[in-house]
Amino acid sequence: MCPLQLQLARVGGLQLSKEPHFDDHQMITVCCCCGTFLTKKLQAFPGDMDHSADASGLLEGSDIGSQKERVVTEEEWLQKWEMGNIGFHKEQRHPLLQKYLDVLLNGRSGLRIFFPLCGKAVEMKWLADMGHTVVGVEVSEQAVKEFFSDHSLPYCEEPVPEISGAKMFQSTSGNISLYCCSIYDLSSSIVGKFDGVWDRGALVAVNPCDRQRYASLMISLVEKNSSYLLVTVSYDPNKHKGPPFYVPESEIKSLFGNCCEIRCLEKVDDFSERHRQWGLDYFLELLLVDAVCLALCNSSSSASSPGSVAAVVQTLFSGTLALHQAGQREEGSCCKLVLSIPVNSCQVKSWQRVGKARQQLSRGNYHPARNAGGK
Ligand code: SAH
Repeated sequence: MCPLQLQLARVGGLQLSKEPHFDDHQMITVCCCCGTFLTKKLQAFPGDMDHSADASGLLEGSDIGSQKERVVTEEEWLQKWEMGNIGFHKEQRHPLLQKYLDVLLNGRSGLRIFFPLCGKAVEMKWLADMGHTVVGVEVSEQAVKEFFSDHSLPYCEEPVPEISGAKMFQSTSGNISLYCCSIYDLSSSIVGKFDGVWDRGALVAVNPCDRQRYASLMISLVEKNSSYLLVTVSYDPNKHKGPPFYVPESEIKSLFGNCCEIRCLEKVDDFSERHRQWGLDYFLELLLVDAVCLALCNSSSSASSPGSVAAVVQTLFSGTLALHQAGQREEGSCCKLVLSIPVNSCQVKSWQRVGKARQQLSRGNYHPARNAGGK
């Protein structure tokens, strides 16, 4: 199994099949290195859900009401830490990270994993203990120091020459580095690039006016083929001012969607007494992933065998459904196409590993018969 298959096969609800039954709006993931494909019903595809009833019967919209204007200053965050007003901190590992750890790791070991706006997230220690290198950024020095003391981890601290006033706290073992500064002071030249991101309580804590800046920075900090796990929340933004802020799925798509293919892995009811006190009557957590993020953005020379994408698509639509690898096999490469059925004029939503095939499968309506010789 190639990494893409392995990863997707582990995602709940995916069906690995050689003879799928195509329904409306299935996601078909084609792997060009081994010629099999995966299908998944598009249940919670960002953008598709807005203004439509979701599985829980609640309406999700793109209106964020008065939250749009809200700004929480760094001083306010520091105060929250000082006052112990940190209801966002969880003593236990996040259940969705535990459940979807395989998606983050994607069969890889020794990753560099980034925790934006990390607080004192306990998952940092957990991942470091697995052999990964963890880097976090947090504006509160108190939070950073509490992280190390809570886990009885010895550390050293040093200034960050490139950022005035910033410090980097590093575990003596060297595998956890927490930058104490604003995330907007970071760049890949300072912290390097990452293979994975655990974004929980981060995008949703960013001031709405800073989201684009945040997303652009995150995109610049990840390696091609990294995994980005993003936890967002859904509630009625007219009833709570945030943070956490409600980030509509359509906005997530516009922030990251040009570079990523975003999927919702799971949506869970996280309603608690705390949320009831905020005046809410529902509160959901969504785990979104981009498994093969940024290939389009970051890769300039990753063209796979030009014929192979078209050949796979042609095979799909020529009616045989017996997918095979036509064209040159390229070890370790994957092609991912997201197609909307019906097949006669399917829409190619995104793909990666593009070469000549990109011209043939240009974004927009793709006609297999015309472009790839299918019937
Ligand atoms: N991700 C953590 C904490 C989420 S709360 C968790 O899962 O527990 C958001 C955190 O971001 C707070 O600890 C706050 O102090 C920090 N923060 C807010 N603005 C920041 C900024 N611009 N740069 C770095 N950290 C920031």
